[in-house]
Amino acid sequence: MRRITKKLLKCLFGLIFIGLYCEYFIYYVVVAQCYWPAIESNAENSEILKAFILADTHLLGPYRGHWFDKLRREWQMHQAFQAIINVHNPDVVFILGDLFDEGEWTDEKQFEDYVVRFYNLFAVPNDTKMYVAVGNHDVGFHNRIRRGSLQRFVKLLKSPSVQHIYLKGSHFVLLNSMAMQGDSCRLCTGARNSIEKISGQLKCAREPGGALCKDVDRNFTYSQPILMQHFPLYRLSDAECTEPDAPPLPERNKLFRIKIDALSKEATEYLAEKIQPRVAFGGHTHHGCLQEHSYNSIKFEEHSVPSFSWRNRPDPKYMLVTIAPDSYAENKCGLPKETTIIMTGAIMTLLLIIYMFKERRIGRGIF
Ligand SMILES: [Zn+2]
Repeated sequence: MRRITKKLLKCLFGLIFIGLYCEYFIYYVVVAQCYWPAIESNAENSEILKAFILADTHLLGPYRGHWFDKLRREWQMHQAFQAIINVHNPDVVFILGDLFDEGEWTDEKQFEDYVVRFYNLFAVPNDTKMYVAVGNHDVGFHNRIRRGSLQRFVKLLKSPSVQHIYLKGSHFVLLNSMAMQGDSCRLCTGARNSIEKISGQLKCAREPGGALCKDVDRNFTYSQPILMQHFPLYRLSDAECTEPDAPPLPERNKLFRIKIDALSKEATEYLAEKIQPRVAFGGHTHHGCLQEHSYNSIKFEEHSVPSFSWRNRPDPKYMLVTIAPDSYAENKCGLPKETTIIMTGAIMTLLLIIYMFKERRIGRGIF
């Protein structure tokens, strides 16, 4: 009787360990395999910034998806996010839009619940900053933004349509992509005014002696900014994206609907001229892409960050970017595929069964 109890206990501990490994430790094991890229820089150590970038978490809301799907995806994203925070300890987290899947359809109470859930799932330590850009699923596309839905996002997520952030000598400009439509609506006009102001401040930081710079208030030194938003900048399709996490064919060749799938050419040229970014990051496509941009003398790379949700792709990704005022380097990191997690659990269970049988046979031989 005692022997049976001992065996049952061993089996139970084995199963608990398998459960813990597959639902918790596996994220740490995978996340620890990625690292902050090294950069060549003349900057001091205090000016090196570690930025964790993710996009398209698409938290399910009250209407779509099965409750189990919602529970499962949120659990996975929470564990993965916290593992990244604990292992890599970033200085700043940027989330590039579509935080919510149904933000545009929710009423006030539902949206407030959404925001509470978001901050619980993606909690960061006090010394880690977090900034979010708005996505079309959060408030709707340009022509479908309901009255009040953008205002509540701006207020509760602390995310105005244009954000100029200065961290450790590096500049970041975060945009609301829907405000880049290029018409004369209040949203677009307001965003353009803010971009003009930031552009003026950056120009005066670069060339302080300018005649128009006397009254421009700024308390920073110049470095080329990093542009971030939800939509990709202008491109006709993902056909030029050839990385392993690019969209599969034939989806890759599907033409973009301009101003819905990507910014217009005019908006992209405007941003290139006004912001003069050294690199840009975006989301929205759920796939990876590295795109070279060249507008007049301004050349820069754009990275599309794949979705962070297992609902959107079997192998969610995120980016670790080391940034100094004069340099940057990025690493794209993977999260465990669901099939890998299931296979790991199945193999471990099989090994436990074999171990239990072997022990039984040895036990019979001895006693
Ligand atoms: Zn989107």
